[in-house]
Amino acid sequence: QKYKEGMEKTRNSFSSKINDLVARYRKVDEDFFEELEEVLITADVGINTVMELVEELKMEVKRQNIKDTREMKDVISEKLVEIYYGDDDETVEKLNLQEDGLSIVLVVGVNGAGKTTSIGKLAYQLKQEGKHVLLAAGDTFRAGAIEQLDAWGEKTGVDVIKQREGSDPAAVIFDGIKAARSREADVLICDTAGRLQNKVNLMNELAKVKRVIEREVPDAPHDVLLTLDATTGQNALSQAKTFSEATDVSGIILTKLDGTAKGGIVLAIRNELNIPVKFAGLGEKVDDLQAFDAHAFVYGLFA
Ligand code: GDP
Repeated sequence: QKYKEGMEKTRNSFSSKINDLVARYRKVDEDFFEELEEVLITADVGINTVMELVEELKMEVKRQNIKDTREMKDVISEKLVEIYYGDDDETVEKLNLQEDGLSIVLVVGVNGAGKTTSIGKLAYQLKQEGKHVLLAAGDTFRAGAIEQLDAWGEKTGVDVIKQREGSDPAAVIFDGIKAARSREADVLICDTAGRLQNKVNLMNELAKVKRVIEREVPDAPHDVLLTLDATTGQNALSQAKTFSEATDVSGIILTKLDGTAKGGIVLAIRNELNIPVKFAGLGEKVDDLQAFDAHAFVYGLFA
């Protein structure tokens, strides 16, 4: 239900445009495809993905000898799902947590994308599932970041391991791991700095944090989640590229999907970077984080 409400802007915009298109063009022809391209690009699906999709659609239209645009809705949604999944048949990509022992989740992303909020929501969700969660305040750079994480810790009843502003993030994460071990925590979620003004420094810092984690815990980090703000459209795509170069991003938390009509960015991220969206942020409250289901997402667009 939450998901439905949160996706309302994207769905309304997309489905009304498609319906309008189908009503105005009865015949599947070049003009129809041209306008369809435009609708998809406006929804932030991303130019490369749109081109690929339209090529595939044209082939499908030939193969099935489709003439009437009313038949196109199903074909489009099927192709969108295909583009999203590739050969996978799993519709939801879960967090990669250990059955036993400590799991470490590293969360990265630029300031303002919703990193802290998402960490709070994720901690809450895992706690609801009965897991013992700890947070490590690894953003020691941004003024107020530690306090903000602390506030989420209080709200969700989860302890926050921290040092003073300006201290070494890798040292904070090291402390976090030590604390998580001695308290037998199940999941340690690590915050990181998100300043992009000095990209080289930030990327070095992330690399160091990752080295500490890898050294302390075999196979960790188990997930590296990148928060991307859905309202920033194609900018989100370029951020994803930057972060993937610095660290192995294993999943995306796409925030503020409730605030945009351009949810198509999900498809671009998956298709162009092959990183799954694992969570969708659909509001500012503690329970406004949903496991992302690509199937529900695509079919929801046409609801
Ligand atoms: P950070 O700098 O990346 O840690 O970003 P914050 O977590 O502080 O979030 C920045 C702003 O975005 C805050 O006002 C949050 O309440 C808001 N925000 C975060 N996630 C969402 C979301 O999914 N939906 C909406 N509507 N707002 C969000």
